[in-house]
Amino acid sequence: MSQFGTEFCDHIAIARYVDGAWQAPNIEPLAPLPMHPAAHVFHYASSCFEGFKAYHWQDGKARIFRLHDHVRRMQNSAASLRLPVPEADMLAGMVTDVVAHHVNDIPEPPSSLYIRPTLVGTLQNIGAAAAPSTEATLFVLLSPVGDYFSSGAATLKLLVEDERARTTEQLGSTKTGGNYAAALGPTLAAKAKYGVDQVLFCPNDDVQETGAANFLLISDDEIITKSLDTSFLHGMTRDSILKLGAELGYKINERTFTVGELLEWVKTYEATLSGTAACLSPVGAIVYKGEEIPVRDGNPGPNTARLQKALQDIQYGLEPDTHGWLTEVAAREFLSTATSQA
Ligand SMILES: *Cc1c(COP(=O)(O)O)cnc(C)c1O
Repeated sequence: MSQFGTEFCDHIAIARYVDGAWQAPNIEPLAPLPMHPAAHVFHYASSCFEGFKAYHWQDGKARIFRLHDHVRRMQNSAASLRLPVPEADMLAGMVTDVVAHHVNDIPEPPSSLYIRPTLVGTLQNIGAAAAPSTEATLFVLLSPVGDYFSSGAATLKLLVEDERARTTEQLGSTKTGGNYAAALGPTLAAKAKYGVDQVLFCPNDDVQETGAANFLLISDDEIITKSLDTSFLHGMTRDSILKLGAELGYKINERTFTVGELLEWVKTYEATLSGTAACLSPVGAIVYKGEEIPVRDGNPGPNTARLQKALQDIQYGLEPDTHGWLTEVAAREFLSTATSQA
């Protein structure tokens, strides 16, 4: 399969907010979106998005993972950017509608369909730097994706950055494009200088997360991760792993911690990134003050693998969904009048 995020289903769901109201959503052929050059998003970065997955089960239907939680998170992101907030039912309906039309394009697990709702401010006003975008476009883009680590990358190496922040405190838990722009420079610089894969941002000696994934430490009987605050993105993978971990008997220790504590723990704890795209990605080493420090013996650990399997078994339909995390979607064909554009 092609590189993650470069292949798309040939329809999107789309809705526009004009004159103070959401217009009825439509399914449209995938095509460039005409946008006025003065659109708010181009100048003032009024944009947010979500990322989650649907899986193709043996029964021929799709299951969307934690749809309603992702809808709620997108509503929070929109509100924090003062964008028009999509109604939960409308956004959930747009997702299930467009997924229903593409159920048969979803590859079998471990491949999946990556779902990317995106909201941008379209107000035509380049004088609106300190004013919200009162017009917006919301669309749901679909991308069939393969196993993130099919290339076989075993472990990641992280730079511990204890000076610069990933983003600002007021947007830390908002899934907005500007946060990735802010993290890009430090991440590329760290890759070039230290050969690391990602940067673990730890401003003011507070271990937070990387540019696009949460960070967890795992032993045989405990999971440690930063407690929720507005400085970082509240991952659904993080939340799901903590819930499953508790059921498997791990002590869940949500707390703030320092770089010093981290350095001590990696002698015996497994370390992992968590996020929808790759689920859990084991960390094999960290670089701190120019020195490379292995995480345990540098190899992926059994607890990380066990927790990842517990989550994926639910997503793939191999174990029951006792949390109500999955939304079932049956395939629906387009009416014969619908056009399909390659
Ligand atoms: C999306 C994202 C995550 C992971 O969230 P999931 O819901 O687990 O996919 C973590 N950190 C950042 C900065 C993110 O943008």
